Amino acid sequence: MLYSVRMRAAQGGAHEQGGTHISGAERIVCREELAAVTAAMQERALTHSRGQADFINIKVEAIAPETVHYLAALRPLTRTAPELGASRALAQAELYQAGVSPAASQAGLKALAELSDSMRGAMLLCAQTGRRLDGRGNRGVRVSRMDISEQDEFTVWLLKQGLSNIHTREALVLATKVAAAEGVVAEVCWSDDPDYTTGYVASKAGYVRLPNIKPLGLPQGGRVFFIAPDSDIAAIISYLEQQPVLVTVPDER
Ligand code: AMP
Repeated sequence: MLYSVRMRAAQGGAHEQGGTHISGAERIVCREELAAVTAAMQERALTHSRGQADFINIKVEAIAPETVHYLAALRPLTRTAPELGASRALAQAELYQAGVSPAASQAGLKALAELSDSMRGAMLLCAQTGRRLDGRGNRGVRVSRMDISEQDEFTVWLLKQGLSNIHTREALVLATKVAAAEGVVAEVCWSDDPDYTTGYVASKAGYVRLPNIKPLGLPQGGRVFFIAPDSDIAAIISYLEQQPVLVTVPDER
């Protein structure tokens, strides 16, 4: 049996009571790893650069191994712009390449830039009009039940791409699951970690890291998933929240 382990932590009370989101994490592990993984999540929530959590929710649920989808990781590449404006322009260009209209990408970047508090999940916007589709307000849609299939092999592969940090590792897993959803055109993200200023645009075509997309010290971050018009939103949300996914190293050939 495998176990989905999900953590969300807030300060000033639980998220649903208006607490500020501090940290979240998603893993899929075997029985032997449960104790260490839940302990590490607690520690992360108590020592986060966004502040010390006073509410931590860790949920453990069994997953039948035969329900897991295996997906090859998106291939990462980095496009560096010297400052925020140029980096966001690159994000818009990448979103356009992926099939997001200029109006929708502008709406998405504006929505992220105007967040006064970080959300726990992502906003779903129409890739054509930029209209919000999920109706989840400040909570957004949280992608769950995902992890790396072979941790050590993945680490070696990431290092070969010149990447080692935990942000990229976790974001690549999430972006790979999201990009595989039917109806998802692209994703844009920047972190809510004040010390981490690299964001990304991801789509089925790949994962483009974008350094300098937000100012150093900013504790607001978020994610927007752009959805093709006429998609089944309930089916997309169900896949994002429920479908277990393990991400594998892509075939190098
Ligand atoms: P992070 O990349 O962990 O710094 O997260 C940046 C932002 O992305 C958070 O503030 C959330 O709005 C969003 N986010 C983080 N994790 C998830 C998730 N599992 N599903 C959807 N959105 C997420």
